[in-house]
Amino acid sequence: MARVYNFSAGPSMLPEAVLKTAADEMLDYQGSGQSVMEMSHRSKTYDKIIKDAEALLREIMNIPDNYKVMFLQGGGSTQFAMVALNFMNKNNKADYIITGQWAKKAYKEAARYGDAKAVASSEDKTFSYIPKTDKSMFREDADYVYICMNNTIYGTVYHELPDTGDIPLIADISSCILSEPIDVTKFGALFAGAQKNMAPAGLTIAIVREDLIGNAMDICPTMLNYKTHADADSLFNTPPCYTIYIAKLVLEWIKNEVGGLDKMKELNEKKAKLLYDFLDNSELFKGTVVPEDRSLMNVPFVTGNADLDAKFVKEATAAGLVNIKGHRTVGGMRASIYNAMPYEGVVALVDFMKKFEAENK
Ligand code: PMP
Repeated sequence: MARVYNFSAGPSMLPEAVLKTAADEMLDYQGSGQSVMEMSHRSKTYDKIIKDAEALLREIMNIPDNYKVMFLQGGGSTQFAMVALNFMNKNNKADYIITGQWAKKAYKEAARYGDAKAVASSEDKTFSYIPKTDKSMFREDADYVYICMNNTIYGTVYHELPDTGDIPLIADISSCILSEPIDVTKFGALFAGAQKNMAPAGLTIAIVREDLIGNAMDICPTMLNYKTHADADSLFNTPPCYTIYIAKLVLEWIKNEVGGLDKMKELNEKKAKLLYDFLDNSELFKGTVVPEDRSLMNVPFVTGNADLDAKFVKEATAAGLVNIKGHRTVGGMRASIYNAMPYEGVVALVDFMKKFEAENK
């Protein structure tokens, strides 16, 4: 069996130990005589799985009791509508910082339901930096301020959060959840599609401060109302059962094998440093993001020559370094080095880049 190093932006690699456990438990989950795939979501056995997953997430992310954790479906994209329908509820106003396509999509969705304002943007330089903001840029009567914390396509991240004063900060953390500790108390709500750092596709996590739940717009569909899911402990309808089970295994891996999010951050920094240091010293490859806003998870880079980029992607793929092509809107390359990418994978990539550089000078 030859497993590749998969640099995909998502769905992406899962820890090998998790895949092995899932394989071992596939036909008979812990003596139940059935796969988790086949199990009723109302069964006692499954109830323990979903409760354990929530408890582990709360413990690992240090989520305070006054925040609800919800296991939802619909991906990050459905959250764009849910955020607006649930939180644009006092003055029907929300301020958005546009740091890339995902933030822009969220903003456009909110504009369908109320007065959404783009208060800052980094589009002038192809989203290669995080725009500076200060409190005075936000409307005092905005119901919330929205950011996309880690910009998967462009490779930027908020190392420092915007100061929004008393206005709740809402963040899309799809591509950085569980990559390092986050102070949940700084946010009104957080959400993430699970298919990058947590589980296969199909699961979306929402973490919402309790006082923000229960005031959705009248037009909000039942399934898009956080209250529906918060009140039912994520069992209002059939949840993505198997994906939640894999998320539980990943959370156990982070807790027991890695040793928590401080350790996870250390490992991620070590991987990212190896790649960024190489890019900073290369005569062929160049990172596209300003150093102070670089993501630990997604590292876009270019040679400056589209033909050479294509050659690199092709040869890297043949060498077992797959899905390294940049997003179709940006071109070049992008290495997504999420939690489950081993250090050896980044070493293999950098070695390959060195060789390619020597051969294509
Ligand atoms: N937000 C971010 C930061 C993303 O990277 C993505 C997908 N790559 C999305 C939202 C959209 O997620 P989904 O495909 O789950 O709707």
